Amino acid sequence: MEPCLWTRRRWLTQTLASGLAVTTLPLHAWDRPARRSFHVCLSPSIVEGEPQLLEVVRDAGASVVWLAGFFYGHRPFSDELLQRARSRVERAGLEAHLVNVPLGHPGDSLGSTDGGFPLTPPRHWQIARKPDGSSFAGTSLHEPASQENAAALRQFRKLSFRRCFLDDDFRLARGPGEIGGCFCDDHRQRFLRAAGLPAGSWSELLDDVQARRLTPLLRSWLDYQCDALTASFRLQRRAFGGALGVMVMYLGAEKAGIRLADYRRVPFRVGELMFDDRSFRPVKGKTDELFSVLFHRRFVSPDKAYSETTAYPANALSAANMAAKLVISTIADVRHTMFMSGLTPFPREHWAVLGPAMRAQARLHDELAGHKPRGPLKHFWGEAQRYVGDDRPFSLWLAMGVPFEVVASLPNQGCVFLSDFDAREMAARGPRTRANLFCRPSAQARPAGAVAVGETLSELFALKRSLGRSLGAVPHVVEDEPAVCAWYPTARRVLVWNLCEHPRTLTVTLQNRQQSVGLGPLEATTVKIGPGGL
Ligand SMILES: [Zn+2]
Repeated sequence: MEPCLWTRRRWLTQTLASGLAVTTLPLHAWDRPARRSFHVCLSPSIVEGEPQLLEVVRDAGASVVWLAGFFYGHRPFSDELLQRARSRVERAGLEAHLVNVPLGHPGDSLGSTDGGFPLTPPRHWQIARKPDGSSFAGTSLHEPASQENAAALRQFRKLSFRRCFLDDDFRLARGPGEIGGCFCDDHRQRFLRAAGLPAGSWSELLDDVQARRLTPLLRSWLDYQCDALTASFRLQRRAFGGALGVMVMYLGAEKAGIRLADYRRVPFRVGELMFDDRSFRPVKGKTDELFSVLFHRRFVSPDKAYSETTAYPANALSAANMAAKLVISTIADVRHTMFMSGLTPFPREHWAVLGPAMRAQARLHDELAGHKPRGPLKHFWGEAQRYVGDDRPFSLWLAMGVPFEVVASLPNQGCVFLSDFDAREMAARGPRTRANLFCRPSAQARPAGAVAVGETLSELFALKRSLGRSLGAVPHVVEDEPAVCAWYPTARRVLVWNLCEHPRTLTVTLQNRQQSVGLGPLEATTVKIGPGGL
């Protein structure tokens, strides 16, 4: 029999399970919080051409600059330029590391203002095929792509670089929602041979892709893609010998060849998408972004988690919205913020806004680091969404002002919001849960017992009111105003994020107690639970 060793961790587990956590746990119960850090990606030529920028980002609170190195078969910046840029970064009191763009993005997502900059891989790299036979460049894996990436990384190691991120073009689908893999003749033959399938299986596979059916055949196609991408990553990491990280696109997962479990132990940039004001401004833009970050944090520990925090084009996201994005990392306990904007830096005036916002988020983050949000609403993103879904999450419920938690499998209690492809899959298999299931009217099929709720604030606030007394023991926002309410019982804190672009006074309630919270536009703050607080 196992000896009864009451380790601290086990004590915590037992205490949490017994429901005593709120009253008995000390503040900062386990891992001491590591401080939030801030990083900036810059091209070596910008570092050389605008060296004052380094002082601006350092004075704002950044501590690391990531220099662009290898671009899908091209080395636009010489070893000498890279080394000079690194020296400048280090002389400014910052660390210097690398970002590679390994396979090439479809289209010009770098925002190159220099007409001479190569936007696609060189001619000796093969182009990829879509299921309909049309072609595209980038985001596919044919040799010599892995070998050339590995050779570049070996060279960077000789130059004494020890940390590198692969950009989010390290994927095998052109964008979110696409079922990927390259459908060229070569890949077709190699897949069929490896899987021991007859030639006739190919048209069956194309049908499954078209209909987004999660069949064993489609699963084995995506497993094959994931094996190839992971093997390429491992080859590159061996060549580099240092810390190689991966940046994952918005909701990136197995359908893009990214087997998330394979990247658990490496630096991991969580996927975001709202790179301009038009996409980030709607409340749904903010909840979609938060949804993707919460999903990816299932696979990476806080200390290895980096944000995407991208503006594209570089001037398309206001400083205020960029500052608001910092709150998403605080809520999800993503410890490192990594600003990026292609080859062009975002406007220098942004830093006057970002500096104070970075310090404010670092303070809030210190209160919450190491603690997990808990609550009756469940964030669920299942296998069907990961393998065959459209990457349109049901996310607006995060704005209900009611606490939530992230679940890796279907829970047996609480309110679970199913995105459309998880709903379809569950309808086919039959749900085995006592949880309350909610689907959007757009779901083609709903599991038995699931309730249709439109993804609108008015319908979701009506749902919140219907929860009534069941919210009594849970801190939540009283008003029908879009706000995220994240509850960290072990930190005895609630974080409230005002999702309006106007100041709001919100009321947080717990049992019979209430506290008013005045918040500026898109501002977040914490409320204490227990003695001296709510
Ligand atoms: Zn191919």
